[in-house]
Amino acid sequence: SKVPLIKLNNGVEMPQLGFGVWQVPDDEAERAVGTALESGYRSIDTAAIYGNEEGTGKAIAASGIPREDIFVTTKLWNADQGYDSTLRAFDTSLAKLGLEYVDLYLIHWPLPAKDKYVDSYKAFEKLLADGRVKAIGVSNFLPEHLERLIGETSVVPAVNQIELHPHLQQHAAREFHARHGIATEAWSPLGQGKGLLEVPAIVAIAQKHNRTPAQIVLRWHLQTGNVVIPKSVTPSRIRENIDVFDFSLDTEDLAAISALNEDRRIGPNPATFDVV
Ligand code: NAD
Repeated sequence: SKVPLIKLNNGVEMPQLGFGVWQVPDDEAERAVGTALESGYRSIDTAAIYGNEEGTGKAIAASGIPREDIFVTTKLWNADQGYDSTLRAFDTSLAKLGLEYVDLYLIHWPLPAKDKYVDSYKAFEKLLADGRVKAIGVSNFLPEHLERLIGETSVVPAVNQIELHPHLQQHAAREFHARHGIATEAWSPLGQGKGLLEVPAIVAIAQKHNRTPAQIVLRWHLQTGNVVIPKSVTPSRIRENIDVFDFSLDTEDLAAISALNEDRRIGPNPATFDVV
């Protein structure tokens, strides 16, 4: 496929565009991930809490694609934070996926009030040393959480997966990540498909390029340097979202989209989110 690879800070290569499966029921995940793999996706983003690691694993097994050609991300759920519980949760995820290793393991949320993310990350370092994960990282970490992690552990996270789309462009976080060699991965890259894809500036750029608004937003992410993981269960959209490597936005388009920033979250604020 034409998806570029991003080199992570430990040398592991990650496709810049992957397939997200949040809110895809386990019994639908096999078909959706299967369609994604057939369409050329080679990176899948799941999580223990999504409840679809089994369906995801079945699709990977059924695809016939060599394991080393697929980049699999899963995440540690909040309730499992802590050193020993992290190791147990990882075993469960790996068994559900039916895999011998995952490419990227992420701490799903920092839960700063629980104060367990450093211990959880030390378990991640053990999994990395044991070769059961190829890279380790975090999700929804604010720069202050990253500072602490970097100060108290040995492996700089390879990735921080954060909410990022034209209405929430995360300039400070992206700068912090760049300074520390952390790749920025955008969750809800399409703003969950609500509103953002009808914004007149985006619709106008789509018409100019004879593309869809979703494709325009994905190009903006790619040209900005983000890793993206759009989600869809609709086969035509799954294909549309990866069909973005034969055109590019010009500087005027990029500037028009950059002007849409409102620092507006759809999801929770990581400083206070504490659901387990
Ligand atoms: P998204 O921004 O990818 O939007 C998905 C929705 O947009 C779809 O359900 C559909 O309604 C619409 N859509 C998709 N393709 C379209 C197209 N071509 N045209 C029109 N509409 C289209 O939202 P998301 O699922 O929230 O985020 C993507 C992935 O990010 C998730 O599946 C998950 O893997 C990850 N994620 C991670 C976290 C986290 O806390 N780490 C949180 C949310 C999501």
